[in-house]
Amino acid sequence: MKYISTRGGMPPKYFTEILLGGLADDGGLVVPDHYPKLSPADLNRMRGMSYPELAFEVISRFATDIPAADLKSIINKTYTAEIFGSAEITPLKTLEKDLYILGLSNGPTLAFKDVAMQLLGNLFEYALNKDHAELNILGATSGDTGSAAEYAMKGKRGIRVFMLSPQGKMSPFQTAQMYALQDPNIYNIAVSAPFDDCQDMVKAVSNDHAFKEKYRIGTVNSINWARVTAQAVYYFKAYFALTQSNEQRVSFAVPSGNFGNVCAGHIAKQMGLPVAELIVATNENDVLDEFFKTGVYRPRPQTMHTSSPSMDITKASNFERFIYDLTGRNPQNHNDLWQQLEKNGYFDLSQTPYFARLAQFGLVSGKSCHAERIATLRSMQQQYAVVVDPHTADGIKAGLERRMAGIPMICLETALPAKFEATIREALGHDPLRPAGYEHIESLPLRFDSMPPDVAQLKTYISAKIPE
Ligand SMILES: *Cc1c(COP(=O)(O)O)cnc(C)c1O
Repeated sequence: MKYISTRGGMPPKYFTEILLGGLADDGGLVVPDHYPKLSPADLNRMRGMSYPELAFEVISRFATDIPAADLKSIINKTYTAEIFGSAEITPLKTLEKDLYILGLSNGPTLAFKDVAMQLLGNLFEYALNKDHAELNILGATSGDTGSAAEYAMKGKRGIRVFMLSPQGKMSPFQTAQMYALQDPNIYNIAVSAPFDDCQDMVKAVSNDHAFKEKYRIGTVNSINWARVTAQAVYYFKAYFALTQSNEQRVSFAVPSGNFGNVCAGHIAKQMGLPVAELIVATNENDVLDEFFKTGVYRPRPQTMHTSSPSMDITKASNFERFIYDLTGRNPQNHNDLWQQLEKNGYFDLSQTPYFARLAQFGLVSGKSCHAERIATLRSMQQQYAVVVDPHTADGIKAGLERRMAGIPMICLETALPAKFEATIREALGHDPLRPAGYEHIESLPLRFDSMPPDVAQLKTYISAKIPE
């Protein structure tokens, strides 16, 4: 298996050559040169496999240059009951006949990002050990990504994490989750500015190529291909958990921001998983909903701040991977669209054969606003005695609108409600339950450094922490 760029300008590379990277050199996204296909016999063999066994079946088809024994041991040490709360790793909860919640948020930071990030931490460590190399991860977070990355990379040899976060802007729970980490390879930097400024500081450092090279700066953002691959696994796990034969089709409702999670579902379907529909659920930032309904892709200049904040994204980076497939995996077609986007601020597929092809790919969409989110949280509690988080509620709302007779609907749970107490209180009038071990998280001693939004200071800080 080789990897190429959606924009056609990258010589083919192996999995471990793209593992540590972000964008391809030509500015495109890295994609496999084909999707491995699973036969009905393969699917039958995978039925009944444990989570780590399934993960190996799926990931080994993409990570073909990692020796099988090495990959197996990396996967086995990642997907354990100790880290994810149960041997199921991603347990399925039945709400009623043909309606399920796929529990993806039982990892250390209580959001689905742990599923991929925990694997990434172990893959990075493996790759760096092999070359006796070091990597300094620089990132900015508004909450979930930073903590998932820190928990995945803490204590890892050869890796340091420098994570910028907006001081005072995260929930007390999220703040404590990150700042309470005492591992010496984790540096939390509280910036006295909003998230956008943190992001700009990261960009400024990344654009200083000499600095980036000298201090071996890398990222763990959601376009990382290994993350998407790791997420494809739980679509298979859920399918086998509730079907008896490969004749049965299922649909998935996916709370979406950067389009990474639903892109993983798309990959599972391309590999041969019998998926009826993949429902892209958005919040008030509904650029993707508009695209799937009208064929017009028009990212907006402003991102709205909502009560499902991890989906507050107007330019979904992984979307480019799907458009590449939709337009026939032809870099020329693809580049034409991206040029139109740059020139006009949008592209419109409604008058092209590609728009009709969306049905073939099974991607549809839905959206939820704050009032609908609150209503969904209430009805989940009333009808099923289940408390979900606001992002999961957006997915459920969109999923319920697309239910089809005889086709199970699986709603992906992207975080636990404990992370978003204020919205749960607003909807239900009480605090969500906290999982064991997180009860007193806000009273732990904190370890972080403060900084104004000043790129020069950030560079000085980083260089002081890295031995020459
Ligand atoms: C990151 C995140 C999302 C969005 O996932 P994408 O892969 O970016 O589409 C949704 N919900 C929660 C809770 C998240 O942390």
